[in-house]
Amino acid sequence: MTNSHRDTTSRRQFLRGTLAAAGAVAMLGPRQILGGESETAGTARWAFLSDTHIPANPEDNYRGFYPYKNLETVVAQMSADLPEGLVITGDLARLEGLPGDYVNARKLLMPIIERRPVCVGLGNHDNRANFLEVFSEPGGKKQPVNGKHVVVVETGPVRLIVLDSLLYVNKVAGLLGRSQRTWLEQILRTGDAKPTILFFHHTLGDGDGDLLDVPRLFELIKPASQVKALVFGHSHVHDYSEFEGIHLINLPASGYNFNDAQPVGWVDARLTAEGGHFTLRAVGGNTQNDGRVRELRWRS
Ligand SMILES: [Zn+2]
Repeated sequence: MTNSHRDTTSRRQFLRGTLAAAGAVAMLGPRQILGGESETAGTARWAFLSDTHIPANPEDNYRGFYPYKNLETVVAQMSADLPEGLVITGDLARLEGLPGDYVNARKLLMPIIERRPVCVGLGNHDNRANFLEVFSEPGGKKQPVNGKHVVVVETGPVRLIVLDSLLYVNKVAGLLGRSQRTWLEQILRTGDAKPTILFFHHTLGDGDGDLLDVPRLFELIKPASQVKALVFGHSHVHDYSEFEGIHLINLPASGYNFNDAQPVGWVDARLTAEGGHFTLRAVGGNTQNDGRVRELRWRS
């Protein structure tokens, strides 16, 4: 077969494929087509990841865990069945948020970054300026909040708000702070009723190393009925709890655990207007609950 024959044949096959696709559009209607890769219309599938702790030196390890290798494994899993996007709730960097930590994190995340939005809520082991030097794409709409890196994503039936609780680099406590809380209050008060999930790094206890303005955050979100869940990391403990019907989802760390009973991995989330379906993907630590699904319904 000559080249021109081959070209004609492949063009004919292409045309046939295109016509078949056009037929499918006519039969399915625009709604199913716009649903894209969602398995169910009205579902947004996102990957949730936390505490990756990527070092400048790939051999850096802690408690027998290699955070660099763990993220390689996690990214390979995500790439095999790409979600619509990825949210990382902080502590992307090893300890001090060094430029080399972020260069490695970006390199490891590149198979996702090239194809999907990636949003990061900074943690206490991140450095905002160093992070922004390396991660120039916010992965959503960057918000005008003074001194904080805040991003909003509209995805199918839900809205994701990625907040910034970084207060001091390499010290444990976190704070949203007044300007960010005022911005959030405004957004929630003037916005629509679209189910909204808030993401940030710090845990919600009353300890000196938790989110220091938790009572003010709770006061603010309690009457905002569109807020359905808070997703965070920091503790390296995977847990589900509730506050006033708002789901509190503590993501496992992907870098390492502090305790052998805890998984190391990420969460595959399917979000609808009514609730979510959360699957643990454990790549290390306690892998006993790998694949376990948690179903949550949103408060009304
Ligand atoms: Zn951490």
